[in-house]
Formats: sequence, C-alpha cells, structure tokens
Amino acid sequence: MNSHPPNKLTALEKRWLQYARALISDVDHKRECERLGGASELGPKRQRRPSQNLDINLRWPGYIGAGYEAATKRILCIGQVHFGKMLAATLGHIEPTLCELVKVDAANEVKMFAILQTIRAGYQRALKTWGPWSNRNNGFQKILQQKYGAEHIAYVNLARCWQTPTDTSMKAVIKACLATHPISDLTKAIKPDLLLIRCGMSYLDYATSGIVWANTHFGNWAGVECIRFDAKREDPATIEAIRKSI
Ligand SMILES: [Zn+2]
Repeated sequence: MNSHPPNKLTALEKRWLQYARALISDVDHKRECERLGGASELGPKRQRRPSQNLDINLRWPGYIGAGYEAATKRILCIGQVHFGKMLAATLGHIEPTLCELVKVDAANEVKMFAILQTIRAGYQRALKTWGPWSNRNNGFQKILQQKYGAEHIAYVNLARCWQTPTDTSMKAVIKACLATHPISDLTKAIKPDLLLIRCGMSYLDYATSGIVWANTHFGNWAGVECIRFDAKREDPATIEAIRKSI
C-alpha cells in the first residue's frame, strides 16, 4: 500500500518537476533548437511555415503518469518528436501551465501539485490519440497491452521541441536536444526500470550513441534496461517477442 497523501508531491514527482522546469527555461537550448529548425515556424531551409499555433518559447517535457511510481515495473516510453499540428490540437491547452511551471515558487507545493496534475492529465489524454501510442501494429499500447495504460507509464520524446513532419531536420534537432538534455538526466530523476524506445531506425544512432547493446533490440542505456524498436518497419514477430519480455 502506498501511504503517501494523494495531494502531496512525492520526492520523485518533485525531481520530475525540477527536470521539466530546467528544460522549459533553458534559453540556450531553445536558441539551438530554433537554429536547427525545431519549435519554430521556419523549416530547415529557412522557409516560412504555416503557423502551428504553438508558443515557440516552450519545450515539452513529457509526463509521469499517476500510476508510474507505484507500478510493478516503472516504464519510461520514449518517442521521437512532437509533431506541431497534432501537439497544438491535442495538448496546446496546457501551454499556460508549462509557462506557469517556470515562474511558480517551487516551495509552493499546492501550486506545484496542481501543475503536475494538469500536465499529467493533458498528456495522458493526448497520448492515447497519437500514433506512437495507438498504432495497431507497433504502438506502445500494442506492446504494453492491458498491463500498462497511459496512466501507468512515463513518457518523453527524444526531441523536446515540436516540428512539422515534412521537415527533414528531425535528426539534427533530436541530436541537439539529447546533447543538452540527455535522457540520463530524466532517468536519474524518475528512476525507471525499463526504457522502451520507439523510433525510426535512422534515429536510433542518435538515441543510442555511446551505448553498448547486447543485441539489436535489448540492451541498456544510462544504466537502465532498455528495449528499442522501429517505429516504421518492425515485424510482428519482433513486436510479439518484445511484448512477451515485458
Ligand atoms: Zn530541442
């Protein structure tokens, strides 16, 4: 039984909020993202893009589900990048909360808890509508099935800025995001037992650089057990093998 009061922050939740705050308020990283074509209305060739109705100053931290901390296995699901149009439509409404997180006095636990709840509820709802979660063949949901719902996992994207799918700058931006805000910062904060990475093979080099893998799909990253699979090309047998291993 978890005896922690339901409206108080746990130590893990405090560390996650700290990580999110540092990410959102990192001005240098913001500049680097924009230079590479992320979180801006300019594509990689500096073409003006249609507005995504998103605040270009914000970065997206992902979330920790309400049931993550107490789960039998703490799973951090890792996707590639937030797509601007989808993000605006499904999660744009939490932008004021992300802005508030940077400004609020961290000692104000009531406020910090409310902020965490808004981010978590927003992401949990939005994630279920996103392909990486709901794809019938190789979405996270397919692998986690009934064992873990969106509320039982933590989620983050390799790139913490949003992009437009037709841009070709994803690799560069993912690389820049990981260089400044490595996933290991997050794993230190929320101590997952398993990282489940879903991304295109061409991005795996960036996702896994410096890591020694036991084989193609199973290995470890930042000292944490890790399974990676291809967002586009993974075959059903591999997905099934991964599902059974969890
Ligand atoms: Zn970035």
